[in-house]
Order: sequence, then structure tokens, then C-alpha cells
Amino acid sequence: MGKTKTLLIDYAEPMKRKEIQAFYQSLIKLNESKQSAADVYFHKNKNLLINAYYEYEEVQIMNYQTQKRELLAQKELWSKKICGGCGSKLRLVDSSYGKFWGCPGFRDKSAEHITFPTNYGEIFASRYKNVKVRINAHWATDIIRMTNSSKDLKAAQLVRLYGEEGMGDLRKKYGYKSTLKSISGYVTAKKNSFREEIEITNALSEFFPKSKTQLGIRYRLKDEYEKVAIIDFVLSDDQVVYLIEIKRRIYDIQIEQLELYFALMDYIMKEADDDRDCKGLFMVYSEETYGFTIDEKYIAFESVRNKASKLALKSIFNKNAEIMGR
Ligand SMILES: [Zn+2]
Repeated sequence: MGKTKTLLIDYAEPMKRKEIQAFYQSLIKLNESKQSAADVYFHKNKNLLINAYYEYEEVQIMNYQTQKRELLAQKELWSKKICGGCGSKLRLVDSSYGKFWGCPGFRDKSAEHITFPTNYGEIFASRYKNVKVRINAHWATDIIRMTNSSKDLKAAQLVRLYGEEGMGDLRKKYGYKSTLKSISGYVTAKKNSFREEIEITNALSEFFPKSKTQLGIRYRLKDEYEKVAIIDFVLSDDQVVYLIEIKRRIYDIQIEQLELYFALMDYIMKEADDDRDCKGLFMVYSEETYGFTIDEKYIAFESVRNKASKLALKSIFNKNAEIMGR
């Protein structure tokens, strides 16, 4: 390691189950009160936000129409075999690259001359069919930015509030996947990671009678507010405590997170006169990202999934711990 920065801890203490539940409850409540603040903001600024919606839609429709017009103009030139740059009649050129329609005036640099592949008719048809009103997946975020509402609204809230005004989801209206589905992607990701955590903790806790999932720690760093850290998984025996941070993909790894957990655990163990060793390690679930190169060490869940002994597990843990002991 060697790069662990020193964190100045005022205090750190493990939380009881009940406290953690209360903590999650307070997060939910906070979310609800944010929701009603968003409603108030929306209704105060209704004209601005409703106009922004229609303006946004209009710009996309205008882009769509421009694109169609330009394509049709090209098609017209194609069917008349005329250069759009200089008006010359195109001719079929047989070059070493194959045949194409080119402008005889191509040497005159004062105009932009045209060339058409011989199958332009088909190309046009497929392009024309694919011209769509393009609605960015982040359209609600764009509107929030345009109206300077970033402090007061989240994209999902804005989409919901528009919906209450009978203004549909712009994405859905123009045939895309609905915006809320794309915004709420992280909820699904979080659910999956719970499932993955359960699989990992079930597979490993068998060898460590003292195991704990979702260990909550209430702490305060110098000059900061009190915060709560939730460590995914703690395995321990008489000699060592392993702090395991479970990640779905290796590029989710953040070394600062493990450094904080390690520092908190170190503090708690010192307070309790617990002189066991402590190691911090990342475990990555998703096999498809193992090829990605990063500086940090991590353990692929695949490599420990079927380990038959505690000794084998510990040897892998010790070799691949990102933070090596106190
Ligand atoms: Zn020309």
C-alpha cells in the first residue's frame, strides 16, 4: 500500500442493528422531504419549466425537419444527376475504386461538388426511414440545467411532475425507452449488488464463524459532520480481521473507500485493545470485467468461490489484500 493517507478521527463506534435500520429509515424520510421540496419548486416555477419543455421539444422537431429537408434535397439532385455545388450535370465515373457519379467541374475549388455512390437510392431510402426526432436520454437533466434548477430538482422528479401536468415523457413520445427506466437504472444495479453480496457472503462465511455483513460505523472526522459508513462484509478469526468491500465491476473500485473503512476499524480495534491484524480487500463479482487493468489489487470472486478450506481462502486474501495490516 504505502499511499494510505492519515485520517484524523474524532470518534468511531460500531452501530447496533436497530441503529442501522433507523439510519436507513432516515434516508427514506430525507428522500420524501426532498420530493415535496421539488413539488413546491416546480409549482412556483411552473411557467418557466413548462415553456422549457415545449422549447426543448420544438428544437428537436426542427432538427428532425431540417434533416429530412436536407435528405430530400440530396435525393432531388440524385434523381436529376446534378451537382449541388456548381449545377453541372453529373457523369458516371469508372475509377480504380469502382464506379460512382461525380461532377466534371471537381477541379474548381470555389464550389463544393457532389459525388454519389451508384447505390445512393438505397442509401437514401434507409437514411430517410431512420430520421427520427432525437430525444437525448438526459433530456430532463438538460432542461434542469437550462432553467438553472439543478439545486431544486432531480431528473426523475421533473419527469414525474411533468407527467402530473399531462406532459408526457419526451423519450416515450418519440419511441424511445422511457426516461424513468433509464434514470432508475441504478436502483436495479443496487438490487443486483445485494444479490451478489449475499452470494459472496454465503460462500465465504462458512469458514469464518465470526462474520458480519453490513457493519455500520458511526464516526466523525476532524472538522466534519458525523457520518455513517457501512462496510459490506467483515470476516475474522483469532488472528486477523478482513474488511471486504464488494464491487460488481473492477472499475467501481475506489481505494479511498477502503482506506476510510480501514482507518475506522483500526480506531475501533485500538479502543477495544484488540491487537489482531486487519486487512482491507476488494472482491469483484462480475467476471466480464476482470480483464480491465487497474492499479489496485482485488480478488475475483471466481477464484475463491469453490475454495474448500479456510487456509486456501486466507492465502488468497493475504496475497491480494489492498491494505496490508496495521
Ligand atoms: Zn460540381
